[in-house]
Amino acid sequence: MPTIADLLKRAQVLDPVSDTPRLDVEVLLCHVLDKPRNYLYAWPEYVLEQQALTQFKYLFARRIAGEPIAHLSGQKEFWSLSLDVNASTLIPRPETELLVETALNLFNESKIDNSKFDSAIQVLDLGTGTGAIALALASERPNWNVLAVDSSADAVKLAESNRTRLDFDNVQIDQSDWFENVNADRRFDLIVSNPPYIAPDDRHLSEGDVRFEPRSALVANDAGFADIETIILNASEFLVRGGWLLLEHGSEQGEGVRELLKAHLDDVTTWRDVAGLERVSGGRVPIGEV
Ligand code: GLN
Repeated sequence: MPTIADLLKRAQVLDPVSDTPRLDVEVLLCHVLDKPRNYLYAWPEYVLEQQALTQFKYLFARRIAGEPIAHLSGQKEFWSLSLDVNASTLIPRPETELLVETALNLFNESKIDNSKFDSAIQVLDLGTGTGAIALALASERPNWNVLAVDSSADAVKLAESNRTRLDFDNVQIDQSDWFENVNADRRFDLIVSNPPYIAPDDRHLSEGDVRFEPRSALVANDAGFADIETIILNASEFLVRGGWLLLEHGSEQGEGVRELLKAHLDDVTTWRDVAGLERVSGGRVPIGEV
């Protein structure tokens, strides 16, 4: 029977499908052994029991076939949270943390009138998926009130189970296709979204993890702009004066998104991700406008 060290050596088999073969095997081993990563280094000579070995082999074979690690482990870290994931939603991406960071910064004392700082602002997360953005914001600002919606019933179920497990009572999850079921009387200080923005003919859709994610979470018509446009067209109706809309978008879409935003909102700005790419853009309702 193989040891932990033996199985770690098999990582190279994943070279053709993964940029992180060693890490993938570590994650799978931690998952089947139900141990933290340092256990693998402390006990390299540990011999796997039959059941754990069988499970490891099964998951390893699925990884060789290209399935995302997050689907095999059922978990993904986002912000400081460990989220349950499944094939019904997008797997949270590190670059989306920029959206969380930007939202938190915009509502810091130095950036906005003091009355809003630390007050219970109203936030809407459109297309929440696993609940990643909503739950990350809620974890940083326990006094914010977050409504998170998704059009997919399965996504709503997943986000709600993440919310319950992480125990955030300042987040509510509802089913809604963008603004459709959001109460028309509600006004938010902040609307955030990581909508689908990949063009239907983008060749990346046939490579890597995205092949196993729902197209509805990835792809939008009009070169990836259709949902971004729907959100921008309707956002002002649901924002207070001075309220912000923040959207994630493709690295090449910054200019197009800014054009759309400028037709409806002020202070249009784009933020770059850690790779230096334009990733998040936003604007706010003019202070003097209802
Ligand atoms: N950033 C993701 C990707 O390029 C897409 C996520 C999205 O469409 N919102 O794979």
